[in-house]
Amino acid sequence: MAKSAMRDLSYGVFILTASMGDKVNACITNTCIQVATNPTRVAFSVINANYTCDFLKQSQYCSIGIMAKSSSFGIIKNFGLQSGRDVNKFINYQYEKNEKSIAYVSTDCVSTLFLKIVSKTDLGSHTLFVAEVVDEKIYKNEEVLTYAYYYSNIKPKKEEVDKSKKIIAWKCKICGYIYEGEVLPKDYICPLCGHPAEDFEPVYAE
Ligand code: FE
Repeated sequence: MAKSAMRDLSYGVFILTASMGDKVNACITNTCIQVATNPTRVAFSVINANYTCDFLKQSQYCSIGIMAKSSSFGIIKNFGLQSGRDVNKFINYQYEKNEKSIAYVSTDCVSTLFLKIVSKTDLGSHTLFVAEVVDEKIYKNEEVLTYAYYYSNIKPKKEEVDKSKKIIAWKCKICGYIYEGEVLPKDYICPLCGHPAEDFEPVYAE
């Protein structure tokens, strides 16, 4: 399958919030689509290595916040570029709970879907969840964020590599995985968290 064709697919950007016991975690996903009506069902997938995926595998309910085009990089960085295993993601951003105690994050979202998970399929790298929409909240009438818009207008451009220093390795900014070597292949995928080469930063010799 040609990689260039896969890059032509379009996606939204979402805040996925899940609970496990009294713990709540949230992450950013770009995979959520409606797949059925009567009842309305959506499908979304989450990288198996993600902490939120552990929560989803054990829970029946979750929420998906549909992000606004005006979203800041700050919130995407907070929920998407660090792990809830290492930090508390709810210091600068709060979650709320709806009438049925389903946790959700409304910041920078136009609306939220409240979901009851009806199937979980392990796809190897990711788990595919199918869920029934049991409730929703609408906050504002604003254009939604697409992954393409995020990539070209919100995500900071890659920092310039300092050519005066020697690169000895590359570090995944998402999970901390270290790739040993001077040149990181362009199509490299982090074996721990599944993020692409763009999410790695150089590690320089002392
Ligand atoms: Fe990683």
